[in-house]
Amino acid sequence: MSHKLLLATRNEGKILEFRRILDALAPGEIELVGLDQFPHVHDVEETGSTFEENALLKAREMSEATGLPAIADDSGLCVDALDGAPGIFSARWAGNHGDDKANLEKVLAQLSDVPDEKRGAYFLCLAALYLPDGRTHCEEGRFYGRILHSPIGTKGFGYDPIFQPEGLEISSAQMSSHEKDAVSHRGKALRAIAPHVLKALNSLG
Ligand code: IMP
Repeated sequence: MSHKLLLATRNEGKILEFRRILDALAPGEIELVGLDQFPHVHDVEETGSTFEENALLKAREMSEATGLPAIADDSGLCVDALDGAPGIFSARWAGNHGDDKANLEKVLAQLSDVPDEKRGAYFLCLAALYLPDGRTHCEEGRFYGRILHSPIGTKGFGYDPIFQPEGLEISSAQMSSHEKDAVSHRGKALRAIAPHVLKALNSLG
């Protein structure tokens, strides 16, 4: 039997990535739908103080708005020399939500005096599942690396041009989406939560 699952995003790339992961585990078992199919549903304000709170908040509100089991993710960049900032404030670090260029310029300015050996950072993704009966499950994925001294590369989004993944000599904005999915925080969190999603949906009958 096929189950419907909402992925709380309007980003087609994220939907295709998660669909590939679920299909590899259980072909055809889950019909994944995105928020584009629910134009009346409004975005959720991220008022939590942790990645987990924000992801659960989004998953619960989206599940309640649609009546479907829902998956939401919350992610961000955590910089060692900034005590984990920008963290949950990654998307609006320079003030305006989603101004990627201003956000990464601010991080570079904050690290201007920080030497190479202290420029460690990681991306974190928290994936949360919310079922209409109130059950939840969360999984976390991390992507370790360091902050470069200037932006390089044109792929990806957000802080990718200033993030050099551990063991690589390029920025994550120079990786193809397939290469990045295989090692990224989001890829890891989605692959980790996928078997729990299958189990939970099958338990609904
Ligand atoms: P979210 O959409 O609330 O999860 O916010 C994520 C924010 O974190 C984005 O706006 C980016 O600034 C940053 N971010 C998360 N994942 C990535 C990534 O894979 N590359 C670059 N920036 C990312």
